[in-house]
Amino acid sequence: MPATLNAIVTHRIEVASGLIIIRVTPDGWELPAWESGQFAVLGLPDTAPRTMLSDPEPADQATGKFIRRAYSISSSPREETYLEFYITLVQSGALTPRIFALKPGDRIFLGKKISGMFTLDDVPEGNNLVLVGTGTGLAPYMSMLRNELECHLDLHTVVLLGARHSWDLGYRGELIAMQRYCRTFHYIPVISRPAEELVKWSGQVGYVQDLWDRGLVAEAMGGEPQPDNTHVLLCGNPGMIEGMIERLAGEGFVEGSRREPGQIHAEKYW
Ligand SMILES: Cc1cc2nc3c(=O)[nH]c(=O)nc-3n(C[C@H](O)[C@H](O)[C@H](O)COP(=O)(O)OP(=O)(O)OC[C@H]3O[C@@H](n4cnc5c(N)ncnc54)[C@H](O)[C@@H]3O)c2cc1C
Repeated sequence: MPATLNAIVTHRIEVASGLIIIRVTPDGWELPAWESGQFAVLGLPDTAPRTMLSDPEPADQATGKFIRRAYSISSSPREETYLEFYITLVQSGALTPRIFALKPGDRIFLGKKISGMFTLDDVPEGNNLVLVGTGTGLAPYMSMLRNELECHLDLHTVVLLGARHSWDLGYRGELIAMQRYCRTFHYIPVISRPAEELVKWSGQVGYVQDLWDRGLVAEAMGGEPQPDNTHVLLCGNPGMIEGMIERLAGEGFVEGSRREPGQIHAEKYW
């Protein structure tokens, strides 16, 4: 069956240039049940206009072909009427320039199947959780935190998030509020281009891998994270994921697979 624009963009928040949060509501159908950490598919035809912020494409190449991509859901499954997505613009990309051109009220394709194994299902109770992300790799964690964060007295949840600039740190206010209300929740952002900041950045500088190397997770948790008490989730840039897996493997952590459980869980965006 040909794809139809079966959903409506009901909300569009510009986090920074090239970074948006959108909410998409099915038009006349119900969302299926889904779990935090999973992704849905968004799509538009190649005839849809591109944002002016993106690289142009020759208009005569459009054929009406549908472009579809996976996006992690950042809203909680408790929100039954819409899905929220946190999307970065790939200027040369096929789909994101078209999504960025949408405004509230515009139509989009939303796949009816929600899938993915990057959930907390394979994290046994009683473990600390370290959620490591780059850019929009924060999206699945927002869903998990909004839906499943429990504030334990002695178990820690640490979010390590890398971005280029402080203004690219989406959901920052919400994460800081969570930290304020839960003593064992820790939000540690890091930026890689401090020289471009408008005012001096007093936080961490470098990449998320550096935060691990600097012992910031151990400091937040009040002790070294160990494979027998901590699970680590990695999401976003494949380079970061590979770098983290290498470090973690050196400390005895194992990447989980369908066959064998492990303490490392990864979702690569490309
Ligand atoms: C399971 C899964 C979940 C995903 N969730 C998200 C999400 O929540 N938010 C999101 O923005 N993207 C997400 N992506 C990436 C998304 O599916 C698209 O690949 C991305 O939006 C680019 O699409 P495009 O058509 O504009 O670019 P394409 O024409 O497909 O170009 C692809 C190239 O864009 C670059 N790229 C892809 N994704 C990113 C990114 N996030 N940041 C920087 N560069 C990128 C890579 O160089 C890649 O080779 C996810 C991917 C997967 C597999």
